[in-house]
Amino acid sequence: NDMNEALHKRQFEIYLQPKCRLSTGEIVGAEALVRWKHPTRGILLPGAFVPLFERNGFIMKMDVYVWEQVCALIRSWMDRYGGKPPLSVSMNISRVDIYNATLVSILCQLAERYGVPRRYMELEITESAYTEDPKLLSERIAALRSEGFTVEMDDFGSAYSSLNMLKEIQVDLLKLDMHFLYGSDPDGRGGTILSSIVRMARYLSLPIVAEGVETMEQARFLDSIGCTLGQGFLYYRPMPVS
Ligand code: C2E
Ligand code: MG
Ligand code: MG
Repeated sequence: NDMNEALHKRQFEIYLQPKCRLSTGEIVGAEALVRWKHPTRGILLPGAFVPLFERNGFIMKMDVYVWEQVCALIRSWMDRYGGKPPLSVSMNISRVDIYNATLVSILCQLAERYGVPRRYMELEITESAYTEDPKLLSERIAALRSEGFTVEMDDFGSAYSSLNMLKEIQVDLLKLDMHFLYGSDPDGRGGTILSSIVRMARYLSLPIVAEGVETMEQARFLDSIGCTLGQGFLYYRPMPVS
């Protein structure tokens, strides 16, 4: 009931979570994550409204609003820091947005309107979208990349078709979901799988960012197997842009 008003009253706000060099903690980029500053319910996390918006069709409207905030931010940084933003900022594309025939042109228009080079627009697309419609996803990603956008495969390893996806679709970066390492892992198979994925990414010349890094132990392990970048509560939680 509140969603349209929320958009008009600018209640959706982006938070940024830094992406870091695992060994030093140096910030190398950030991901924009939406928050809903609801007037009576407080700050809502995406888990509380994104799935609903994906079902009722509102997601594209909200996402375009979020992407526009990101473009405005990159633009203001470019103006302030001599034409080059000090950090790259990635934005999330819902699996539902992939079905929208106007997706590519909307992103082109935003890049144009804000004067942001397309390669600075890093688009995170969840791997699970592949399961739903592999052909469409691969066409969209190819179109986005050929228009000059940077495409990051989000939540890699969390769906059931990771290897197929990797074979069929070219992306610019993998975001490795650390969640499959949580829970029981009595004989340490998670670690072996992880190091194999990192090695495979290297063979494919694909940069990789681990997400959900919570402990020093994980950070050290990731670094030791050649995954040098990560994002997680160990380093920073998502925070307001300011
Ligand atoms: P995601 O894109 O995979 O984003 C990472 C999520 O993991 C974020 O949750 C982040 O806060 C959380 N996270 C980061 N580090 C850690 C950690 O060390 N441990 C744990 N347990 N979690 C960590 P958040 O912000 O609640 O967002 C959840 C999901 O909502 C995102 O997952 C993304 O799929 C979606 N989302 C967020 N913003 C947007 C948006 O603007 N548009 C769309 N369509 N989806 C969005
Ligand atoms: Mg993401
Ligand atoms: Mg993710």
